[in-house]
Amino acid sequence: MYDNKNKTFLVARFIFTIVTGVCAGIGCSHQKMVDVVVVGGGLAGLAATYEIQAPGVKVLLLEKEKRLGGRIQTRNHNGEPYEKGALFAYSSIMVPPECGKPSPRIFNRKPVGFSLNGTVYLGRSVRLAMEKYNWSPREREILEHVFKSHEVGTAFAFPHLIQVFAAFFNAIHPGELKKYLKVRWQDSLIRWPVSERKNGNSELVEFYTKCIQAGVLLNAKVLRVEETGGHRVKVTYTYKGKRRQVVSRYVVVAVPAPIANEIVMNKKPVVAEFLQSVRYVPGFVVVLFVPPGKVIDFSYVVFADGEASSVFAMPCVRKNCTKLYVYYARDRAVKMSTLPVKKAVSRTVRELKRAGVGSLSIGDVLFADTGFWQYLAPVIDAAFERIDARGYIFASEHVILAGEYAWGQPVTASAGIMPYGMYAAYRSGVAAGETVATLLGEKR
Ligand SMILES: Cc1cc2nc3c(=O)[nH]c(=O)nc-3n(C[C@H](O)[C@H](O)[C@H](O)COP(=O)(O)OP(=O)(O)OC[C@H]3O[C@@H](n4cnc5c(N)ncnc54)[C@H](O)[C@@H]3O)c2cc1C
Repeated sequence: MYDNKNKTFLVARFIFTIVTGVCAGIGCSHQKMVDVVVVGGGLAGLAATYEIQAPGVKVLLLEKEKRLGGRIQTRNHNGEPYEKGALFAYSSIMVPPECGKPSPRIFNRKPVGFSLNGTVYLGRSVRLAMEKYNWSPREREILEHVFKSHEVGTAFAFPHLIQVFAAFFNAIHPGELKKYLKVRWQDSLIRWPVSERKNGNSELVEFYTKCIQAGVLLNAKVLRVEETGGHRVKVTYTYKGKRRQVVSRYVVVAVPAPIANEIVMNKKPVVAEFLQSVRYVPGFVVVLFVPPGKVIDFSYVVFADGEASSVFAMPCVRKNCTKLYVYYARDRAVKMSTLPVKKAVSRTVRELKRAGVGSLSIGDVLFADTGFWQYLAPVIDAAFERIDARGYIFASEHVILAGEYAWGQPVTASAGIMPYGMYAAYRSGVAAGETVATLLGEKR
C-alpha cells in the first residue's frame, strides 16, 4: 500500500503550509481552487489525505474541531495516557512505515466476566464465565448449543441467557443486539483482547500529521458540499465566524453518516437513502484511576443489569494504579451526559460497587474524566446489507464518502461486514484516497 512512498518522495511533495488553528492561506480568501478537499480529520480523513498527496497535487483537509483524530482521543493525566475515544490499541499496519513507529502494545490478559444481580461471574472465555452461573438444565442445554452452533438467536426465548449474551455483545457494539445483522450476533461469544498502546492511540494521529504535507485547517466546519457542474465541487465552510468557500476537483467526505447526509448536496438517490437509514448510538465514558487492589482482577466485565454497559481495566503504564473505563450507551449515555462530572463519577463508582466489581468508594478515585460521543458507533443493521465492499461510496461524480461506516468488506468468512472501528475507518480512507489519486492521475 505504501510501496510508492519513500521519504524523499514525501519531502518533495507539494507543501502549502500545515496550520493548527491559523488560516493557511488557501481556502481562506474567497473561492480558492484546490485539487482535493478532504472533509473530516478522523482516521479515515487522515488516511485518505495521505494517500492522495503527491507532488503538484493541492490537498486541503478541513476539520471542524481544534484537533485532529476524531474519535481517537488520547488524553494525559500527570504523564499517564488514557483513552476518551477508541480504547483498544490500533493495529500497527495502519502506520505508514516512514511516518512513525508504534509504541509497545500492553495487554490485560486477566479473565472476562458478566455481572448479574450484584455478582460477577469470571472466566478465561465468555463460555467459561457463563458456565459459572446457576442456569436451569434447559438453559444450560441452550448455552451448549449456542457455543457449538454460534446460533445466538436460539437463546432469544430464554430471557436471562439472552440478557447475558446481549451484555457481552455490548462489550464491543453499543446498540441493541436484536437490531444488528444476524451475522454479527456471534460477536457475543468472543473474548476480545484488551490492549492499549503505551503512548495511547493518538500517537497514530501524530504519525499521520507528521507525514501529511497537505494544508490542514482546524476549526473549519463544513456546511455544504455541492457539485457545481464543469467537474467542480464547491465546499462551503465556516472559519473564525465567517463563511468561506473553496472549489475543488474532488471531495472526500470522511465524517459520520448523518453528518455526510446533512452536508452533501445533490447525492444519488440510492446514497441519500442509505445515509438516511444509517443509525448511530450515543455513548458516554467515565475514566477512573484507582489504587491497585480496589477492584477484582478482570480485563472486562459486562453488565447484564444496571446502568452501565461494561467496564474495562488496564494497568497504569507510568504509575501504580489501575485505569477503569466505564461505558454507557444509548439513552443512559445521554442521561449521564447531562449530569455534572462529579455526579457522573460518583454514580459510576456506586454502579461498580453495586455490580460487584470492587469495594470502591469515591474517596478511592485518584483521577476521573468523562466524555460524551453523539456518534459512538453505527448500528450494523439491514441498512448495511447493500453496502459496497470497496470501502468508499460515490455520492456524486466528484464527491466520495469515506469513514468506518463505508467499509463493508468481510473481516473473515464467518464474521461478515464490520463497518465500525479504527480498522474500517483506516481501510475506507485508504480506499477512497487511492481512488481519488487514480482519478487525478487519469485527468492530469
Ligand atoms: C468511546 C469509544 C470507544 C471506541 N473503541 C474502539 C476500539 O476499542 N476499537 C476500535 O477499533 N474502534 C473503537 N472506536 C471507534 C473508532 O474510534 C472509530 O470507528 C474511528 O475512529 C472512526 O474514524 P472516522 O474517521 O471514520 O470518523 P471520526 O473519527 O468520527 O472522524 C470524523 C471527523 O470529522 C470531523 N467532522 C465532523 N463534521 C464535520 C464538518 N461538518 N466539517 C469538518 N469536519 C467535521 C469530526 O470532528 C472528526 O474529526 C471507539 C469509539 C469511541 C467513541
